[in-house]
Formats: sequence, structure tokens, C-alpha cells
Amino acid sequence: MQPHIYPKGSHSISKKDIDKDALYVLETLNKHGFTAYLVGGSVRDLLLGHKPKDYDISTSAKPEEVKSIFKNCLLIGRRFRLAHVRFGPKIIEVATFRAGDTDTNALIIRDNTWGNEEEDVMRRDFTINGLFYDAANESIIDYVGGYKDIQKQILRVIGTPHARFRQDPVRMLRLIKFRARLAFTIEESAMQAMLECRPEILKSSSARVLEEVLRMLESGHAETFFRYLADAGMLTHLLPVLAEFIEKDHKKEIFSFLHIIDQLEEMKERPVLLSCLLFPLFSRHIAILSDKGSRRMHLGVIQDEAFFIVNEFFSPFFVMPRKLKTDIASILTSQYRLTPLERVKGRFFRIPRVADFDQALSFFQLRADMEPGLQDLCSRWHSAYQSQEKKHNHL
Ligand code: ATP
Ligand code: MG
Repeated sequence: MQPHIYPKGSHSISKKDIDKDALYVLETLNKHGFTAYLVGGSVRDLLLGHKPKDYDISTSAKPEEVKSIFKNCLLIGRRFRLAHVRFGPKIIEVATFRAGDTDTNALIIRDNTWGNEEEDVMRRDFTINGLFYDAANESIIDYVGGYKDIQKQILRVIGTPHARFRQDPVRMLRLIKFRARLAFTIEESAMQAMLECRPEILKSSSARVLEEVLRMLESGHAETFFRYLADAGMLTHLLPVLAEFIEKDHKKEIFSFLHIIDQLEEMKERPVLLSCLLFPLFSRHIAILSDKGSRRMHLGVIQDEAFFIVNEFFSPFFVMPRKLKTDIASILTSQYRLTPLERVKGRFFRIPRVADFDQALSFFQLRADMEPGLQDLCSRWHSAYQSQEKKHNHL
């Protein structure tokens, strides 16, 4: 198939907007006789006038050939062999053109067969992610109509949506992520396919899904992402406890927390972000138990309940790293130290010997951002914590 070429000057990407190390890698590969293009998210973001998060390069060079050209290069990955070219903390990812089984319905297990540049585009997820930028002549190479879809703000699947979602159900999550992040419209057949293929998400790797969810919590678009996830009926499959809570008209409690973290200038730790999804549910659970009054809700009981809720919340799909679970349970429990159910007399601002108490305080700050009535209490806890830290540093 002949691609559509958008020559220099006919599109909005200017060489000076591109990371100089990425350009160096492209030019060096060209000099050695290989084809090499910028691809994926970086081309999309440059066309949209956004600053790309990272730069991916696709090339005709095999991983070993890339390694022999760059001193600062490491080959990684078992499933996909990739070259990482390092510039200090920055990594430019260089992948050899690869073919994928675009027509099969089966889950992809291995896809490491080399291909040509067209095949490399056809295995990608959405047309807006399927553009190449050729630094040698500053043109855009478009096999899939992605350029026009960016102009029209449309999310269109490359290939048959049903087949593509069955092969890799994480693509459905990516579809929702791009909708939330870019505010693009999902093309009709993709929307239909997603609605039909939703339960397939449970066949994907929980670690990959968790990573996508965590990245969205950090993205500044968490609220829209979770709203769309709930609306598309995906949340019911991934986090059924949360989906039910939201359906029972507790939308506002969850989405207000997400709204707060979307405004943060400095991102918080991952357990703190996840706690925003659990706390409204947990505090309701504790309120019910405490109203029943059958036992005294001291911190030991609250901690047991926190572990119980954390396990319920992530089951049955997510296999959570133990440390992440413990951190969340500890953040939730500590909220009842910071704002006790009953008034405590005496040494109220005593900082406990709990590891990661700073995360509990950091989460308390989010609660106070939502509920201005907590602000004063929150600053007093922060001062108490800081003076304790100072004391420790002097010892
Ligand atoms: P982000 O800005 O979030 O990094 P991205 O589009 O760059 O978005 P990456 O996860 O970095 O996303 O992937 C880079 C590229 O690899 C994508 O643009 C897309 O072309 C391709 N890709 C990623 N995940 C998939 C997938 N599950 N199926 C097919 N192609 C994919
Ligand atoms: Mg990327």
C-alpha cells in the first residue's frame, strides 16, 4: 500500500521542537544506511502541539545492529527485544520494524517477528498512534489515515476493532485513556466493539492493567478517565466493588477526590493516589460498623477492616503487590488517628511509630483540600510531624 506523505511545510512539526537526542539517534541510524522514524505517541503529541513524554523510534536495524552503533545502548525485554539508547536519565527507545497478526482473534502471546515499515504500523493500536516522522526530509508518512483523524479528533482502531480488542484487551483501556486525555471522539465501530468485548479485559495481565490505571491517576485526567471507565461498563469488570459503590449514588465522593488529584502540581505517591478510590468506601464501611456499636472501633479493629476492604476492593482481577496493599491499608487506618471517631483527651498530636506515616499525612492533605473544615487540623498534624522529624535528625 502506498502511504500518504505529508512533506515538510505541509504539517505543523518543526525539527526544533524535537528532542535533540532523539534526532541524533535518527540521524545516526540513517547514516549507517538504516531507515529510522519517530513513531507513536511522540508524533501524535508533536502534531497536537503537546510536549511528548518520551520518544520512540522504529527502524529497519535489528536490535544487535542498534547496539553495535551506540555505545550507550542496552538491549532489553524477552517478549519484545528493544534497544534503549541512554542519554543520562533520558532513554530513547529504538524498536525494529515488526509484524503482528492483524487478523487473528487469538490473544497475542509472542509478536517478535520482524516486518517492514507498513507491517509495523498495522500492528499498532489506533490510527493517531500509527504515524511516522522521517527526520531526513521532515515528512510525515501515513499508512492509516491517522493525520486526518488527528485533525478531526477521532479515535479509530487500526484493523478490525473486535479482533484487535480480543488480541489485546488492554487496547480498550488505552482507548478510554486517549479519550480522557485528548478529548477525542471514539469512532462508532470501535465503541461498539468495546461494548461487546468488555469482559475480555479480565484475560489481560493484571500488572499491565494496574500500570495503565496508575499512570492515569498520575495523568491529570483521572476524573474523566474513571467517569468514562464507569460509563463504558469497564469498571464493573475491573473493580466491581468500586463500580457498585459509584452506582449506589456515591459518584460525587469518588470523583471529587479524583478532581483534587488532577489539580496537584506535585504528584503524590501511588498508594496515596489509590487511597482516593478506597477512602470514601472505607469511611462509609467504618461508619456503619461504628453505628452498629457492637464493638469499640479502636485502631486495631480499624486496621483489620482496612486490610479486609483493600482485599475486597481489588478482587477478583488485580494481583496487587503486597507492599502496595500494606501501604494503602496503613494510609486508611491512619486517617482514624488523624481524625478519630471519638474525641481523644491528652496527647492528641503524637506522631506514631508507623512506617510511611508521611503518606497518611499526605492523604490527609487531600481530604482537607476537599473539606476546608479539616484544614486547620491538618496543618497542626503537619507541624507536629515536622518538629518530630527535626528532633530525629538531631539525634
Ligand atoms: P503515552 O503518551 O501514554 O506514552 P503512547 O501512544 O506513546 O502514549 P506507549 O505505551 O508509549 O503509548 O506506546 C507507544 C506506541 O506503541 C503507541 O503509540 C502505539 O503505536 C504502540 N502501542 C502501545 N501499546 C499498544 C498495544 N497494546 N497494541 C498495539 N500497539 C500499541
Ligand atoms: Mg509513549
